[in-house]
Amino acid sequence: MSVMVFVEQRGGELQNVSLELLGKGRELADKINNKLSAVLLGHNIENLSEELIQYGADEVVYVEDENLDVYLTSTYTKAFTEVINKKNPNIVLVGATTIGRDLAPRVSATIETGLTADCTSLEIDEENQGLLMTRPAFGGNIMATIICPNHRPQMSTVRPGVMKKLEKDITRTGNIEKVDVDFSQCDNNVQVLKYVKENIKKVNIEDAKVLISAGRGVGSKENMDAVYELADILGAEVSASRAVVDAGWIDKSRQVGQTGKTVRPDVYIACGISGAIQHLAGMEESEYIIAINNNSDAAIFEVADLSLVGDVNKVIKNLVQELA
Ligand code: FAD
Repeated sequence: MSVMVFVEQRGGELQNVSLELLGKGRELADKINNKLSAVLLGHNIENLSEELIQYGADEVVYVEDENLDVYLTSTYTKAFTEVINKKNPNIVLVGATTIGRDLAPRVSATIETGLTADCTSLEIDEENQGLLMTRPAFGGNIMATIICPNHRPQMSTVRPGVMKKLEKDITRTGNIEKVDVDFSQCDNNVQVLKYVKENIKKVNIEDAKVLISAGRGVGSKENMDAVYELADILGAEVSASRAVVDAGWIDKSRQVGQTGKTVRPDVYIACGISGAIQHLAGMEESEYIIAINNNSDAAIFEVADLSLVGDVNKVIKNLVQELA
């Protein structure tokens, strides 16, 4: 029996979420005495296998084929489904990225099992060794734990940044197995004519060590300048609550929370953010949380390690003056 992780690579580059899932997968596999299997699909990707073992996998199963050069729903579903049918895993984990959100439901429907999307916690049920898949439900007002008792594998997707990857251990060894898939019968009605990489620099707030996050309390788009200035001084990235995104003060790619991104920086500075449950869902696992709010009863203070009650714009201005 195995816990299987779908490893996402883009242009031969391993995506962080897959390494995070290997970390969680390792923990789950150890609890139920399963092996941890990494599934790697693509073209010219075999060289990535060793690294997956170093990040916790016991074995790597890879499908190497030019049909898998660029992600296509049909070819990837075919390859992943064949690997699953061959290996009969107990649990399958997929990153909730654009690719994972497309692939996982196709695969789960093809192999006729359930899928729990966007899990924030995965645990093993001590009683029956089943997978407990927890995710926010009803607009984030409750956490629902979902089980899949009658079908295997138990499948779930997890967003980037939620789980922790293990330290790389270069002494680890494991099996590497190639699986051949015949794509001639693959019902492929999409042809990729050209692959154009987006040229704009996209910020990846999930990778930032320090995040300064702006909330509605910052007051206006103009006041955001000081937030960026402070971020520059601290070598931080700027993120925001949904209220700030909705107001058009910042791009959606920087939104933290249930409908934004999940972040886990070393330091998260919440500036004028109330601490709604949908916001907390995306940042409460941060290592150290500093909250600035003029309302001493704000919910954000319940998760903060350091609480500053005061006008956020004054605090930011003073910090810029002190630190510049
Ligand atoms: P507010 O709630 O308006 O809070 C502003 C805070 O600033 C207050 O606490 C106030 O005391 C303080 N303040 C005001 N002036 C000052 C000042 N001068 N100095 C200091 N403090 C000041 N939200 C997200 O953030 N991310 C999500 O992904 C997300 N997803 C959602 C999904 C659903 C289905 C739903 C229903 C909601 C979602 N929301 C999300 C919205 C969420 O419920 C809140 O409305 C939002 O987080 C509020 O943003 P805010 O804290 O910036 O603004």
